[in-house]
Amino acid sequence: MDKPEFRKDLVSGDWILVAGAKRGKKPIFLKKTSSAELKQGVSKCPFEDPQKNNPIPLLWYPHPKTAPSKVEDFDSWFLQVIPNKYPLLVQEKTCPVSERDGVKEKLVGVGYHEVVVTRDHFKSIDKMSLEEIQMVFKAYKERYRVLSKDPCIKYILVFHNHGEAAGASLFHPHSQIIALPVVDPDVARSLSGSNDFYKKNKKCVHCVMIESEEKDGLRIVSKNKHFIVVIPFAPRVSYETRIYPLGHASRFEDLDKELFPYLAESIKDAFVRLNKVLGNPDYNFFIHTAPVRDGDTDHYHWHIEILPRGFRWAGLELGGGIEVVAVSPEEAAENLRKVKM
Ligand SMILES: [Zn+2]
Ligand SMILES: [Zn+2]
Repeated sequence: MDKPEFRKDLVSGDWILVAGAKRGKKPIFLKKTSSAELKQGVSKCPFEDPQKNNPIPLLWYPHPKTAPSKVEDFDSWFLQVIPNKYPLLVQEKTCPVSERDGVKEKLVGVGYHEVVVTRDHFKSIDKMSLEEIQMVFKAYKERYRVLSKDPCIKYILVFHNHGEAAGASLFHPHSQIIALPVVDPDVARSLSGSNDFYKKNKKCVHCVMIESEEKDGLRIVSKNKHFIVVIPFAPRVSYETRIYPLGHASRFEDLDKELFPYLAESIKDAFVRLNKVLGNPDYNFFIHTAPVRDGDTDHYHWHIEILPRGFRWAGLELGGGIEVVAVSPEEAAENLRKVKM
């Protein structure tokens, strides 16, 4: 295989991605690296000098505290976006067309795979200041808007892996933006669920859910003027935490400039509490937003999901699809609420 390929699972209808030769250069079965080894890797870290392999960043911002005279000076970079050195997808001139071979369906993995790097090797996003967090989310939005102009792109996923248990192969804080020619199965399922609810009830299921959470308060962690931090009623892992905009909004990329400080506040709030209660866990977080070119998405409500890692999946989870959550969502929310800020 010389190109990455999406393949459709005939039974579930879900797409999976076979990464192929190019990605194959990246070691798949990583040798077990201890957290200490990962942390010591500054001298070998490729993100200490991202320009070594990537001459021009796709986007860069100076640190929010940079003096106005230095704002144009690239040496003051705080964040930059570069193409992934091991892209999961390839760029081509034409949009991929799905090919059928009997019952099998596949699609060339065309799209974009970018990395958002922040400068400080040791300052993970959960430790950043509110201004720094805002910058990171501003970069997500800006790249999202650029990538969504490509007519081949159907979905853009922003995600962040922190720590070995979360699948991060580099210690240096970085997020990934992946622009896909298909809607990812997780979002597809949640879209179809929220669409069904909307058709029946003429209401956004997420708005209804938030309203009900606000009524009983059992799973609310914190709230500000524009965002709410909650533990879902049926989480996938213990302490799964979600951040929703309070007013109905389908798309993260339409988030108003004035709301970014509130978003940063909620993210910081969630991480400070999770770090205190779980002792700085590894984590993944991602943004779920409506697909790129889907006219009517009134039924969808964008949000952020944070999944602390370290609770391991085994047979029942992988084989049965039933996730065993050790800490009840109500207890998790209570523990997080109790943290003194
Ligand atoms: Zn580094
Ligand atoms: Zn809504």
